This record gives sequence, structure tokens and C-alpha cells, in this order.
Amino acid sequence: MKVAVLKETAPGERRVALVPEMVGRLKGAGLDVLVESGAGDAAWFDDAAYAEADATIVSRPELVSAADIILTVSKPDEALLGALRSGQAVIGMLNPLADPALAAALAAKGVTAISLDGIPRTLSKTQPMDALSSQANIAGYKAALVAASTFGRFFPMLITAAGTARPAKVLILGAGVAGLQAIGTAHRLGAVVSGYDVRPSSKTEVESLGATFIELTSVGSAAGEGGYARALTDDERQAQQAELIGHIARHDVVITTAQVPGRRPPLLLTEDAIKAMSAGSVVVDMGSGPLGGNVAGSVPGETVVTGNGVTVIGAANLATSMPTAASTANARNVSTLLLHMVADGALAIDPGDDIQAGVVITHGGSVIHPATAALLADQPAGGTSQ
Ligand code: NAD
Repeated sequence: MKVAVLKETAPGERRVALVPEMVGRLKGAGLDVLVESGAGDAAWFDDAAYAEADATIVSRPELVSAADIILTVSKPDEALLGALRSGQAVIGMLNPLADPALAAALAAKGVTAISLDGIPRTLSKTQPMDALSSQANIAGYKAALVAASTFGRFFPMLITAAGTARPAKVLILGAGVAGLQAIGTAHRLGAVVSGYDVRPSSKTEVESLGATFIELTSVGSAAGEGGYARALTDDERQAQQAELIGHIARHDVVITTAQVPGRRPPLLLTEDAIKAMSAGSVVVDMGSGPLGGNVAGSVPGETVVTGNGVTVIGAANLATSMPTAASTANARNVSTLLLHMVADGALAIDPGDDIQAGVVITHGGSVIHPATAALLADQPAGGTSQ
């Protein structure tokens, strides 16, 4: 069976789905590895490194025609979608709950779609496959660095002959994988850090990293299923936005990471919250993306300076800005998942398997992932989940 590694085509995407050190692992399981020429260049893995690892370097048309399984980081583009044929499989971050139309298109082509974001995350055996966590971890680290390099003052307290610099006050909103790494990184840089989340269980994790946990009096627990947050009601959302303003105004830097699976990211910083911040403050919106963001006025991939001097960074895809680390982690995740699904050198689809039940979105011409199928049933053809 031939496993193929594509060169990514999404604008700004520098990651590659598989790195040379994982080629031997797949070959050991009886799989051949094809790599599109130049696939790893932007992440500093050249064709020679893949060839040395015993992968075969091919052109894109050769690869798409010969592949049994195609590994991608992001979703297939229109051209790839058009070139895929029945019986092939695609593994990547396909995000079917936000883009069920893509799942429908892959099913119509008879392609087996396997989405890394569907990995059940509470099983210890799936931790090495958890690409959402590995990429969020990198993004959270980078968010703190981006904030520190944009901020016009020091993060740590510094006592120098030229005077004393007080430490920056940094607030992290959303304390999941990315938020906790942003807290840890800002703390290591010497900032005074606070964290907030609607899941009360995150309090001990925030405090264990040396940060202060902020509790709101107007909003109770919004812990949902599977360790995730549930969406707030309109009343809860307005109360949360209003009470957060005072906390936001007391901080120099705010990093937002809040997400609710399959939903638009919750708005945490309203225009009033931004207006309450001092000139020179920095906001990094990690929720920023095509569905919106956590911050009013943030633009994905852009930096905006507001009229009152607040720099708002729409940090849409920070993991790709550390392409070597992000590709290496993703490659370990995808290889572990793939080897879990391979038996006797072939892909063995088994929706009864607890991991496959989460990741196999389409197979045999149908959308078999129940949550994605339910979304499609509720929508007009070609719609999305928003
Ligand atoms: P995520 O990316 O889905 O969301 C980020 C954070 O935003 C979450 O902590 C969420 O509670 C928070 N959030 C959502 N709405 C909010 C709001 N209105 N206000 C403030 N915060 C809000 O989260 P994630 O990083 O993917 O983690 C989700 C859960 O999965 C966490 O409980 C995490 O500990 C758990 N997890 C477990 C494992 C494991 O057990 N191996 C691995 C990864 C994640």
C-alpha cells in the first residue's frame, strides 16, 4: 500500500504531514512512502532527507495517481478533490463539524476520509495521536512569544541602572491545551499571569503553572461533554463579556484561546473591552478564523491597531509559524493513528473500533461519522455548520 505525502497548497501553510524520521516507521509496517518533490521544503525537510529515509520522491500527478492513502495537514483543495478517485483515503485535519460539505464531497467520490480532529482525547492510548493537542501546544507557546515581541515593554520585572521595569500583566482567556502552554510560557518569560476558563476544573491547572485563576461571579460552570466547554446562553455570554471588561482593562496583554467544538468561537473581548484597555496593550486572538474570533475587530492573519492604541493580532494559524516542530509532532500523531488502522499492510476500516469511530468520516461512498451525518441531514446541500 502506498502512503503519499503532499506539498501543502493552503496560503501560508509551511507544515508537511510526514517528516523523514517517520518514513522508516511506516516502511516497517509494510507501507511504501511517496513524497511530492518539495513537500517538506518550507519546514526544512528537503527531498534528499526523505530519499535517504527510503521514501520515493515523485511529482504531484504521479503521487495523486499512485497513492492509496494521502496524508495532508490541511483540507484538500479543489484541484486535489477533483483528482481523487474511489478507493483512495485521505488523512488530515478535515474538521468535518465545521465543513460537513467537504465530507459530503469526499463521500460522493468514494474516498475514505479520516480526520485527525476526531480522535477521542480522553483515552490514554490516543495521546500520541492527538494532533489537536500537539498543534495547540505549539500555537500557545508561540502566542506568548508573539505577544512579548509585540509589547513595547518587558515581560519580566527588571532592575537596572536605568531604572526598574515593572512586570507585564498577562491574561489568558481559555485554559485548554493552548491556553495552558501560553500561561506557562508567559510565566517563564517573567510576566505576572492570570488565567480564566468556564470549566472550573481548569483552576488547579492554571494555578499549578504559577498563574492566578480568575473566577467570574456572573457566570457559573459551563463544563460540557468530554472535557470540553458548552456554548453559553445569550444571557451568560453578555454577563461574561461585561464582567470580563474590568479584568481585561487591568492587564497589558490578553491572549484568547476559547473554542467550543463545532461552534463559532465565543466573543470574549467586545469593542467596549478593547476601549477600556490602555494604549500599548496587546491582544492575541487565537480564536481568530473564518468563523470569527474571540475579539471584536480581529482579522485572521492580520495585525490591527485600534484608535486607542491597542494592537490586536488575529493569530489564525500559529502552529505553522513553527513548521519544523509542528510537522514533526503531526507526523508522529498521524503515523501512530495510521499504524493503528493498518493490518497486514492494508487499511482495515472498522467503525466499531473506539478510535476509528471518531476519525473515519466517510467510507464506502457514505458519510459514516454520526455527528457529521446529522449536520448534513439538517442542512441544505453544500451548506456549512455555521
Ligand atoms: P478547546 O481548544 O476546545 O477550547 C479552548 C478552551 O476554551 C477550553 O479550555 C474551553 O473550556 C475554553 N472555553 C470555551 N468557551 C469559553 C468561554 N466562553 N469562556 C472562556 N473559556 C472558554 O480546548 P482544548 O485545548 O482542545 O481542550 C478541551 C478539553 O480537552 C480540556 O478539558 C482538556 O484538558 C481536554 N484534553 C484532554 C486530553 C487528554 O485527556 N489526553 C488531551 C487534550 C485535551
